[in-house]
Amino acid sequence: MTKIGVLGLQGAVREHVRSIESCGSEAIVIKKKEQLDEVDGLILPGGESTTMRRLIDKYDFFDALREFGQSGKPIFGTCAGLILLAGEIDGQKDAHLQLMDTKVKRNAFGRQKDSFEAEIDIKGIAENFNAVFIRAPYILEVGEGVEVLAVYQDKIVLAQDRHYLACAFHPELTDDNRLTRHFIQMVEESKKELATS
Ligand code: GLN
Repeated sequence: MTKIGVLGLQGAVREHVRSIESCGSEAIVIKKKEQLDEVDGLILPGGESTTMRRLIDKYDFFDALREFGQSGKPIFGTCAGLILLAGEIDGQKDAHLQLMDTKVKRNAFGRQKDSFEAEIDIKGIAENFNAVFIRAPYILEVGEGVEVLAVYQDKIVLAQDRHYLACAFHPELTDDNRLTRHFIQMVEESKKELATS
């Protein structure tokens, strides 16, 4: 069975576990870097990116997470996870894992809109997807070869760069598992490719 890890340092961990299990895959909450060897793909959940980064450093996850991605295993960053994956963060000197060719902006939908829901269309994956945004970032710029999969109010809220996927909203907070299923398909394909390479 395909095993999907959820980084379990902070944030919406349990909700992702539920969503993965609803899709028929096995979910493993990752609390130690050694557990990364057990999984075929990884979700970086929403939460608070600076807190999560602090815990990533504290528990010595930084290099292990970069190596996980560089080995070709898929990573899906949701909300704070999108910030962790970005190559650049607007207004900040240093970014975090820098695995995706994206530039992101934090808390980018403004104060009044701290949290809201919107129906978005996800290219080739889901029409009328109810997206929950909570102090959401968005993607300001993408590099060549990055596919923009959803836009809301002219802002990029979902993109895929090779085996990396990142969204600005929280797909784990509703019962609509179509995006999680898309990620699991990415993981299944990469598993096959990595097995034959
Ligand atoms: N704004 C948060 C951050 O910067 C992300 C919010 C979220 O994950 N819901 O980390």
